[in-house]
Amino acid sequence: MTDVTILDGTKTAKAIRLEVASRVAALKERTGVTTGLAAVLAGDNPASVTYVAMKRKACAAAGIHSEVHIFDSAAKTDDILACVTDLNENPNIHGILVQHPLPKGIDEHAILAAVSPDKDADGIGRASLGELVKGDAPFVACTPQGMITLLDRYNIDIRGKHAVVIGRSVILGKPMALLLLNRDATVTICHSKTQNLADFTRQADILVAAVGKPEMITGDMLKPGCVVLDAGYNRVEGRSSDVGDCHYESCAAVASAITPVPGGVGPMTIATLLENTVKAAERLNPAE
Ligand code: NAP
Repeated sequence: MTDVTILDGTKTAKAIRLEVASRVAALKERTGVTTGLAAVLAGDNPASVTYVAMKRKACAAAGIHSEVHIFDSAAKTDDILACVTDLNENPNIHGILVQHPLPKGIDEHAILAAVSPDKDADGIGRASLGELVKGDAPFVACTPQGMITLLDRYNIDIRGKHAVVIGRSVILGKPMALLLLNRDATVTICHSKTQNLADFTRQADILVAAVGKPEMITGDMLKPGCVVLDAGYNRVEGRSSDVGDCHYESCAAVASAITPVPGGVGPMTIATLLENTVKAAERLNPAE
């Protein structure tokens, strides 16, 4: 068994949240502006309700004003678009978060495209994704950016490494692959149609699991000494806590570093949202 480093997202996120709190206070001191985040929540997805509540709590602790704009499942795309347009104009709001997923029938693409690029704290608007492709986005999707920050805080090199990302969603897998590429990794993206997945995972120096299938990656699928970033968050009946996409014990026995679930990638997502929000407020209120 190798000596594995646990990439502690809870501890790292706490440090980032303190840094955000001091930036929020400094901005207030300099300009009188209170940093503000607005969440748009539509439908009754219980996980979304919980995530928004967690984000609001984290905002309060960092001195960020937060508000939630709630729509029921019968809401129309135009209702939500009108709300986003108002928030774009609202000088007290610097970051806008449209909680994913939106109910069926809502044009999520149109709503995300309507968020002002200057307030895209969630980093998944059209302009932000385009900037990421170019290589230098002001706001990057929170979960992938949180994973990169975690690697950086643990001084784990990315350049020249072979990174294998499993999953290609717009909020997670694709931006993660681009971030790694922008940091000079050699990147392979796997997805549900990939054949012989283990042939790819066994080549990974850095493995990112962003699938949503409990414990599908096992230690025998890893290269010894690899770094494992597990973004998966899966509820399994009969288990007392959520589990990742990686089977923790077998993967930790082979990896050199690994994120636990919970306490790995999840806390970094919220910390990154706060970082993006204060960054947006600073950009909208530049020093003279
Ligand atoms: P998603 O939109 O459902 O995407 C899942 C991806 O996994 C898809 O690209 C899919 O491929 C791929 N996939 C499915 N089965 C596969 C298989 N057998 N082999 C290889 N690839 C497979 O999910 P998501 O929103 O990206 O979320 C992924 C996971 O991250 C979930 O567990 C979610 O709860 C978690 N998550 C965590 C955080 C956090 O803060 N920690 C934030 C967001 C999401 P296709 O494209 O071919 O369908």
